[in-house]
Amino acid sequence: MISTLLDGNKRFVSEVFDRERDYFADLAKQQRPTVLWIGCSDSRVPVNTITQTRPGEVFVHRNVGNIVATNDWNLSAVLEFSINHLQIPDIVICGHYGCGGIGALDDENDQDRYIPIWLNNAYKAKERVDEQLRGLHFKLPAEQRMNLIVEENVRLQLDHLLEYPFVRTSMRGGHLNVHGWVYDMGTGEIKVVQRNEIVCRD
Ligand SMILES: [Zn+2]
Repeated sequence: MISTLLDGNKRFVSEVFDRERDYFADLAKQQRPTVLWIGCSDSRVPVNTITQTRPGEVFVHRNVGNIVATNDWNLSAVLEFSINHLQIPDIVICGHYGCGGIGALDDENDQDRYIPIWLNNAYKAKERVDEQLRGLHFKLPAEQRMNLIVEENVRLQLDHLLEYPFVRTSMRGGHLNVHGWVYDMGTGEIKVVQRNEIVCRD
């Protein structure tokens, strides 16, 4: 498998890089991405492929479950660099149906040490959906319930994003917009998640 990647790189150099030498030479000097993508690490959700974007266009942070945790210094640094240095005007949080991370919210798993700790940052999405379904006295098929949790997790992580003061400041100043999306692996389509009104409070 590893040799496949290196073989692929040789093809990239000879078939793509050489053909677009000027484009890559310009990119090597400076990047000017216009979107920060916060997505899941899942191998089936490769941002450049599903959005048909090129190198240099999207700044990327991926983790299990496309989670925004305000105690995550990795993401915090990505946000700070995106907003303060790259002046990126749009942030997308993109979940996906069939997400193993979100599915693991239902697991009673005591084998893993770190995954449950990480998923605590998404647990409220499951609680919100289950509470709504209980209120409706309605039992959804398991897959539909999980799809709702995937969507709610995107809303929850947008809420978390707004807990960063410098994110709120940029939004209030009209320099930044945030977006919630979900990718459907069954159709290849991205769906916009209708979100709760995002209010930038001080
Ligand atoms: Zn996932």
